[in-house]
Amino acid sequence: MENRIHLSWQPIVLFTISTIVFVTLYLMPLQSLAPVPPAVIQLTRVFFLILALIMLFEKLFSMEIYTKILLGLLLGGIAGLLFQANIVEIKPVGTAFIRLIRMIIIPLVFASLLVGTASLGDPKKMGRIGLKTFLYYLVYTAFAIFIGLILANLFHPGSGLSKQAQGQLLQNFGGEAQAKLSGISGKSGTLNLLLNIIPINIFEGLTNSILLQIIFFAIFTGIALALIPAEKARPVIAFFDGINEAMIRIVHIAIKMAPYGVFALIAAVVGSFGMEILLSLFKYTLITIVGMIILNFTYPPVVQFFSGMKPKTFIKGIREPQLIAFSTSSSSATLPVTIEACTEKLGVPLDIAGFVLPIGATVNMNGTALYQGISAIFIAQVYGIPLSIGDQLMIVLTATLASIGAPGAPMAGIMMLVVVLEQVGIPSEGIALLLGVERILDMFRTTLNITGDASAAVVIAASEGELNIPKT
Ligand code: ASP
Repeated sequence: MENRIHLSWQPIVLFTISTIVFVTLYLMPLQSLAPVPPAVIQLTRVFFLILALIMLFEKLFSMEIYTKILLGLLLGGIAGLLFQANIVEIKPVGTAFIRLIRMIIIPLVFASLLVGTASLGDPKKMGRIGLKTFLYYLVYTAFAIFIGLILANLFHPGSGLSKQAQGQLLQNFGGEAQAKLSGISGKSGTLNLLLNIIPINIFEGLTNSILLQIIFFAIFTGIALALIPAEKARPVIAFFDGINEAMIRIVHIAIKMAPYGVFALIAAVVGSFGMEILLSLFKYTLITIVGMIILNFTYPPVVQFFSGMKPKTFIKGIREPQLIAFSTSSSSATLPVTIEACTEKLGVPLDIAGFVLPIGATVNMNGTALYQGISAIFIAQVYGIPLSIGDQLMIVLTATLASIGAPGAPMAGIMMLVVVLEQVGIPSEGIALLLGVERILDMFRTTLNITGDASAAVVIAASEGELNIPKT
């Protein structure tokens, strides 16, 4: 990390003045500045806050983008703690950033899968890679749930919750839970879930961002392109290849906004967080996070075992998408950054990354699976429902399927948890207990979800002899 100080006084002055202005404005009650309208004060303090950040990130020091994003995350957390609910107004900056990367997801997924599949060439190679991808995802997901189940059985997070806290949580979040439950009832039939992967009208899939349908159609078209005469297929592939590159180019540009977006997202989350809830669910939250940290440590050695890649290379290569995943809570929104990191930092060829990662973003959710395992047992413990080994195996099975079926979007994991609970006969209103800490756990599990995807891309590229580990 070569952080150099540029000794020029203007940025220092601008930074100091804007910091003084925004801190003062945030610490003063809005009404005390009447007759200035509150909206004007809010705009002013956001403006100076962003100006201070720009000076810090772009002018005062020269830092790597990763350092900037990490700093954005830390400072966002501090701002959230200091200015609490006031800082939530900065959220639009974060939303703008997420929208900017979400903008390219659909064209990117479509183009990268189509080109990826078509350029894998012979259907045999494609089938082989598909099978390996699927097996890797399945085994890792089941492994992740096992970690969750072991921790939950060892530490009994549910027994740490007092009756009083339980009542409070059910009362606070019961309504929200009910709304979520009615939202998903009827949609959970497994057969329907599978049938729905085949689009009736691909434009419906595209406009409604139904990723599994888009994936299905893109793979099918890619295969067809590999089968028709080359002179017909070539221009189509070249066209989508161009789109693919352009989308990845947009990621390069968008990522420059990441430190600010991440700052805003984290500040808004921390600012609106109820600390008491976190404390009442302390044991459960802690055990879940510990489980995810353990899972996180399993990737580098697994990757090294299968590909020979040094753990340091993997950890360094994956940290940018990890931070984006942490702050957006969405594997899909992070996908463009994951593809960029895998191809440029980890040496995965674009056709394999373009195939393995978009599928992974919706299908492979190791963090979500681990979370569902622990949470199902937690709720059962709170309600005093004993779970046999058979029940726990049922949890492994349904949580694997539920994590596959969950879209890579915020809160998808908790919605699909309902399916797991219903299968095992645990009251699904129990998710009300978890809603208070949902956001923070979503951040962690999304980070692991994309790490799992990236590890698969590296391992599969290596197994095909196509990994070009960068020399650093
Ligand atoms: N937010 C997660 C993701 O996008 C899914 C989940 O809610 O577990 O990967």
